[in-house]
Amino acid sequence: MSPVRLHDTLTGETRPLEPLRDDGVRIYSCGPTVYGPAHIGNFRSFLFADLLVRHLRWRGQRVRWVMNITDIDDKIIRGAAAEGVGIGELAERYLERFLLDADALRMTRPDVLPRATEHIDEIVALIATLLERDHAYRTDDGSIFFRIASWPAYGRLARLDPEQLRVGERVEADEYAKDDVRDFALWKGPKPGEPSWSTAIGEGRPGWHIECSAMSMAHLGESFDIHTGGIDLIFPHHEDEIAQSEAATGQPFVQTWLHCAHLQSSGSKMAKSTGNIARPGELFEAGVSARALRYALLAVHYRASLSHSDESLAAAGAALARLDALVAALEAYREDRAADASLPEALAAAREAFGAALDDDLNISEALAALFDLVRDLNRRIEARRLSTEDAARALALLRDLDEVLGVLPAPVDDLDPAIQRLLDERTTARAARDWAASDRLRDELLARGISVEDTRDGQRWRRLVEVTHG
Ligand SMILES: [Zn+2]
Repeated sequence: MSPVRLHDTLTGETRPLEPLRDDGVRIYSCGPTVYGPAHIGNFRSFLFADLLVRHLRWRGQRVRWVMNITDIDDKIIRGAAAEGVGIGELAERYLERFLLDADALRMTRPDVLPRATEHIDEIVALIATLLERDHAYRTDDGSIFFRIASWPAYGRLARLDPEQLRVGERVEADEYAKDDVRDFALWKGPKPGEPSWSTAIGEGRPGWHIECSAMSMAHLGESFDIHTGGIDLIFPHHEDEIAQSEAATGQPFVQTWLHCAHLQSSGSKMAKSTGNIARPGELFEAGVSARALRYALLAVHYRASLSHSDESLAAAGAALARLDALVAALEAYREDRAADASLPEALAAAREAFGAALDDDLNISEALAALFDLVRDLNRRIEARRLSTEDAARALALLRDLDEVLGVLPAPVDDLDPAIQRLLDERTTARAARDWAASDRLRDELLARGISVEDTRDGQRWRRLVEVTHG
């Protein structure tokens, strides 16, 4: 059994994760709608799923992670019309943008990134089953709705009284004649100027909710372990996913529901519909490093709301600077002496505390506290020159090991561009030859490539100035 415990939104309980199958943990995350660049509120939700996936893998579990790409919906149709391009072209452009931002933020690439438009057959089959079982009905315009009155468990996830549902949520109520205002569209009948597919259930296009049921079940099976998303998706999106999936299969859909709290900025919820937007690309252009943004988005527990501000980014930058300084010091450290006898125990205790914190519903604050206790301890040992050269390598290996989960440390020297490595080597040689002019020239050349060097008693230390900048 996994030592990991997670807080399930449906039951309100924090329970041990017990994978349903012995071939690994199956996770589905609601992904981006590719009609514009994702904002950092979206990325907070994606990066919390990334933290979960990394932690489970670090704990030795096999994980299969699926994140959908919504490439057909009202917003994409409107966006494409506004820009005068096809929906395929718009979706492609912003999918590429999403992947660039995700890579810059070091998000683990999901095992599958299924697209709605490539799963029309599965969507149609699922809706056909719901029609057969009388959980869905057609309207005159060719649309198909889920009949909420046929599903008494509706509202459990969001803890809503079914009778009170959807008051004020009359989206498109005038455009589609439904039996009950609470019912939601599974399939939207064709309209002039909108893309549509000719299928066994008629001409039209899928509603948004059904795609996640169809794609999660296509790639993970009818019942799977974990479903993640932002809390704004609990209702109606995830409530609808449960109803339509379980009504079709008769099986429990998801074992554990995880929801990430909002990102607040200037006191209001981050959403694309407000003018209050911060996108990763804009922050990178303003000089924020991708590592600092990743750290800032991860450093607060996923169920606590996070305030995004210049101060939170500055705090993330300061935390990274401390980590970078320690990594650089350990990389450069040379001391020919006996091993520090108390080091192995200190490293093991730090790893234990870090892992135990994340096992506890991804308690990142405690995990980071354990990490920075270790940073202080190692800095003291370096200062006192208590470590041997091998000890320093051992400590560095532990930091790299913990960073498998966090993904915030500078890349190991091995990952350096060979051209930069050559400049660093030349500079080391120049200094050994006391050729200060060459040393200074190489320092400037490295600086121009975003690498700052500093000379210490252990030799030359380098760090990256800005991780990733792209427009
Ligand atoms: Zn979804």
